[in-house]
Amino acid sequence: MFQKLSAHSSHSVTTAPAQNGHTTLACKWFTETRAVQRALGHPRPHAGHRSTLGNTHKHKDSETHIHLKQPKERCSPLLNNTDQVFPVHFAYLALILKKMKRRDTPQFKQKSPHNLGKIEMPRQFPKVLLSEVDESVRLLAEKVYASALKEEDTKDSLSMYTVSEDCPIGMNQVREREMLKEIAEQYSEESTKRKKSFKMKRSQSLSQQFPSSLNICPEWALSVVAPLFTPGAHSLEFQRVTISGDYCAGITVEDYEQAAKTLIKALFIREKYSRLAYHRFPRTTAQFLRSAENQKWNVEEEILPDMCPCPQEGEDPYTMEGIPDDLNYALQMKDGIVYVYNDAEALKQQQPRSLPYPDLETFAIDLSHVLAMIADGPTKTYCHRRLNFMASKFYLHEMLNEMAELKELKRVPHRDFYNVRKVDTHIHAAACMNQKHLLKFIQTTYKTEADRVVLEKGGQKLTLKQVFDTLTMDPYDLTVDSLDVHAGRQTFHRFDKFNSKYNPVGASELREIYLKTDNYIKGEYFARIIKEVAHELEESKYQHAEPRMSIYGRSPVEWESLASWFIQHKVHSPNMRWVIQVPRIYDIFKSKNIIPNYAKLLENIFLPLFKATVNPQKNKEMHVFLKYVTGFDSVDDESKHSDHMFSYKSPKPEEWTSGENPPYSYYLFYMYANIMVLNNLRKERGLNTFQFRPHCGEAGSITHLVSAFLTADNISHGLNLKKSPVLQYLYYLAQVPIAMSPLSNNSLFLEYSKNPLKEFLQKGLCVSLSTDDPMQFHYTKEALMEEYAIAAQLWKLSTCDTCEIARNSVLQSGLSHQEKMHFLGPNYLQDGPEGNDIRRTNVAQIRMAYRHETLCNELSFLVEAVKSEASGTQASSHTNTHRPAQRFGGNKQIKGP
Ligand SMILES: [Zn+2]
Repeated sequence: MFQKLSAHSSHSVTTAPAQNGHTTLACKWFTETRAVQRALGHPRPHAGHRSTLGNTHKHKDSETHIHLKQPKERCSPLLNNTDQVFPVHFAYLALILKKMKRRDTPQFKQKSPHNLGKIEMPRQFPKVLLSEVDESVRLLAEKVYASALKEEDTKDSLSMYTVSEDCPIGMNQVREREMLKEIAEQYSEESTKRKKSFKMKRSQSLSQQFPSSLNICPEWALSVVAPLFTPGAHSLEFQRVTISGDYCAGITVEDYEQAAKTLIKALFIREKYSRLAYHRFPRTTAQFLRSAENQKWNVEEEILPDMCPCPQEGEDPYTMEGIPDDLNYALQMKDGIVYVYNDAEALKQQQPRSLPYPDLETFAIDLSHVLAMIADGPTKTYCHRRLNFMASKFYLHEMLNEMAELKELKRVPHRDFYNVRKVDTHIHAAACMNQKHLLKFIQTTYKTEADRVVLEKGGQKLTLKQVFDTLTMDPYDLTVDSLDVHAGRQTFHRFDKFNSKYNPVGASELREIYLKTDNYIKGEYFARIIKEVAHELEESKYQHAEPRMSIYGRSPVEWESLASWFIQHKVHSPNMRWVIQVPRIYDIFKSKNIIPNYAKLLENIFLPLFKATVNPQKNKEMHVFLKYVTGFDSVDDESKHSDHMFSYKSPKPEEWTSGENPPYSYYLFYMYANIMVLNNLRKERGLNTFQFRPHCGEAGSITHLVSAFLTADNISHGLNLKKSPVLQYLYYLAQVPIAMSPLSNNSLFLEYSKNPLKEFLQKGLCVSLSTDDPMQFHYTKEALMEEYAIAAQLWKLSTCDTCEIARNSVLQSGLSHQEKMHFLGPNYLQDGPEGNDIRRTNVAQIRMAYRHETLCNELSFLVEAVKSEASGTQASSHTNTHRPAQRFGGNKQIKGP
């Protein structure tokens, strides 16, 4: 018994005699070699490899090796034992079930997190209390957080969440252990039966393979699961790569089931947080999750962000007409989250409006589940193998279909890479022009407005000429070199040096004059420069950008001044949407005594937004400005870490009075929480919602990516996904968009050639290209094109690849539904080729079908395991309780002979 790797297509292929319209290609050598090796008792040629090392932290057999390298306390005691993870997950599921039952009683309106689809407003945040959860869940959470902190501390490559690349001793031991386990399994009657039943399922008819509730084209679905299938008239003809035989091979049935169960649970958790915040969640994944619960997905359940459509030509983007009325709601910040009350009386009674107010404890518990999972050995192995498989599969797909994809693109009239829509999904406004542009702008202003007062310093008003005199420089002599805003070798791994690059000529005065919105000239120069950049985008027509503007949380008036800057200088452009970035610098404001505690920072950031939503009449400028704001970003150097460990015991924001900066997860949770409540309030009013799009995974702890997996609609950077196979696989399954900036990384954290973008793209993660800071990193006027060009050259990307990235960037962006329909095709919300209009995106339908089928394939593995286990549990209830003991008992018996 072995897995067959085959490529088949509907038309005959010359490599082998065609029968029934498909061929089995290649890999005969591979399977044969492997069969021989197995017969000889060799471990598989590429079984595990890197991933197997992950297991070393967990399995008893391999503890010895680990302790050679690490002091014992670094391994979480819990994670040395696989079996404990099992009851914990059951406990959690039981709790959720309990909650689901409770909602049947009429007075309890709370719905299960798995069932949010049918929820009408008002919605509730499903709370989980630590006192309510099982002791085991509590212990798990505590242990996970304890080790997460150590992880942040040690910065050791061999930490519990990541996979080390070179440790031969451990690798051999783990291989041996896996083999023993598998042999034991072969001896176990029950396992053999289960394995057989899985295999049987694979060859059964389509109707049983793919739940009919899925809106997936049945032909493709069949082609995914049954290799002997000839695609029908409706589906695309291309050569498909499929595996036949026992797909579970190389991993024991128990491990596979455990991995599937935990992964599905993580997806449920993300779905819950996404839906509550009006973040996107991919249809295909949602369909499979419903089918895991034996439910049907329907399109009405889908939750999407609401973005304001771009004003039509001739319409005034700054119009103050038709602004909604005051709702007279009362607002109050409590535990770091803004609560909304119907009136002052309700506030007095402390009876908030029914909105889903999240709480830290529930979040901490949910987070701990995903944290535990990414350190779980079997899950790590499973994900690593799937990711490797997906990379190889893409390689074969490319080899087999490259020409067919190209042919498709050649047939598309008018469209090419230059005129598909691209969005610069991650760019900072203060660095959105390139260095040459800034230099020219400075010289122009000096030429025409030298006598204008531009700066007030120490009570003295200075003209532009005086400013340059005090700096003892003549703008005519300035060059891009003396401007010194470009990042270079000296900024690598030095974020502090990089930050100073925002000061032209190293002078903070010039930054103040040219790159700030609230200065003596009311941000006029900055607005002019941005408008010049916007003008260039409009000229090029097909490029868009989403610049970040800062709100610091220093004072509550920041919003007002930003909004009035925007309207006064008429900064709106149809090719730009705005994202608000909040730097994580509480510690700086606290040390200067600007704010008393962390809650004040949150209040300064979010209360004005709630006020503008409740009473737009009183905040007209903000109301107009917010139409063009589509999201929030959280920014700063991720590699500097907080000494505080984030957990459910973390102090409330009001109690956070120390000078220490809160950890990343703490920032993320409170930003998410407020954005989520705000979105629900705005949705009630029919106003646009916001997405949370933090910088994440550029450096620092891998736990940042876990927090973002729950709270973010999409992220910027994501480099550290490289280190965790489980998280990478989860980001794939949930199709979490990642805006990557390899040129920026090259100057700061990671050499270009080591950037994982190409690898992520091949595996099918939803990646886009962005510039981050053209002022520091780029040379040409079209920074985004420069980014695409370098990536395409270096990685030899095909036109289809670059157009796929461009399509991802539009999907990820905060452009409105109307614009996306216009740029991608009217059905863009559908996954697969049906959602793609090749005449607009220039992405081959074959590519779309390949991606869609691959995702369905991966998800179906997980759902099948969960479902079969559920039915298995019903059939013989003793199975679960006995399995772990049996597994290890089995090992011991085998060890002797
Ligand atoms: Zn950035």
